[in-house]
Amino acid sequence: MTTELSQISPVELPSQPLIKSARLWMPKRVVFTADALNEPFGQAIYERISALNLPIEIAKNNRITGLRGADERETYRIAKNTLAVVNAPPGAFRLQPIPPSADWQMNLAEGCPAHCQYCYLAGSLSGPPVVRTYANLPKLLDHTKTYEGTYPPNRTWQKQADGSTGGLRPTTFEVSCYTDVLGIEHLTGSLAECIRHFGTRTTGQLRFVTKYDQVDSLLNLPHNGQTRARVSINADSIVRRLEGGTASLESRLQGIRKMALPKEMGGGGYPIGLVIAPIMAIPDWRDHYTALLDRIAEVLDFSQSAGTLDMNAEFISHRFTPGSRDVLLQWYPNTSLDMDETNRVEKRNKFGGTKYVYRPEEMKEMKAFFYAEWTKRFPNAPVLYWT
Ligand code: SF4
Repeated sequence: MTTELSQISPVELPSQPLIKSARLWMPKRVVFTADALNEPFGQAIYERISALNLPIEIAKNNRITGLRGADERETYRIAKNTLAVVNAPPGAFRLQPIPPSADWQMNLAEGCPAHCQYCYLAGSLSGPPVVRTYANLPKLLDHTKTYEGTYPPNRTWQKQADGSTGGLRPTTFEVSCYTDVLGIEHLTGSLAECIRHFGTRTTGQLRFVTKYDQVDSLLNLPHNGQTRARVSINADSIVRRLEGGTASLESRLQGIRKMALPKEMGGGGYPIGLVIAPIMAIPDWRDHYTALLDRIAEVLDFSQSAGTLDMNAEFISHRFTPGSRDVLLQWYPNTSLDMDETNRVEKRNKFGGTKYVYRPEEMKEMKAFFYAEWTKRFPNAPVLYWT
């Protein structure tokens, strides 16, 4: 039985934070394509997976089959328990702009082990939501060098101090658009590979975001300040009800705290980011999000003793498309997520697609709340954008 989000009230705010690390994802099936095994990085993944004693298959013809079940639910279950190790197709080398998050998106994998009932991937992945990780990642990374110094139209926060948009600042690369990079890191080592790569660059920077908390393997990497580690968080009631398979809110905050702490204090010394998403206008949303902001302020209050905290914030309001809603209702038929389009307004993108977003007056109210409350608590941590 599900609890309606509309029934959530302030009295449900927990007095004690729930500390629950995400369970490490152990797929029931791991399939390597023959091409992937020819890549040295594919071999390294093979060794990791073998050491974990997971069953491995080799697809000699480079095709992953057996992912379809009798219905969408079963297909979902099969796919979410499968890791495919493949080579990224040639199209993956043509990077796409990803405003407002970064300049370019570079995917190290597609598909995610978590079960968020509003998942952004619904309707945008082709085929079953299997996790496909790329064995030719070092080649993809090397290719990003050709994008350094290039800036797609992304006229939001990524400006120079003088207001211009290109030429002077490092080019940013986002790797988390189609997966949770930390959720699969124990199986692939791909995020560490990316961090090490960008640690050697001066004109390219890495951005990633996660809902997981197993950060220990990242703390001692030579990132040289060229990676911004971000955590995706939400009001605790939303995390608990809608974000299956992820770490609890408190564990995520403790994870990002470790990433930010200076190395001499046992942390990773990374620049960090807080992504509050998807922000939902649930009843008493001010109370729920005030509790969240207060907790962030408590957990990250070490700037006095440890120098300046390099942190910024991104705010993303909930939206859905007709296509993503259809897929999500097949994946999560009992969801309590509000996807009633009569509560929203329709917004068209430049390609003619439709998405449903909150009404302008509601959006304005939430935006004003978040900017004011964030700035009050974190005057030195800029808000990059609201969307
Ligand atoms: Fe989808 Fe992101 Fe949740 Fe993964 S963590 S299930 S990609 S919303």
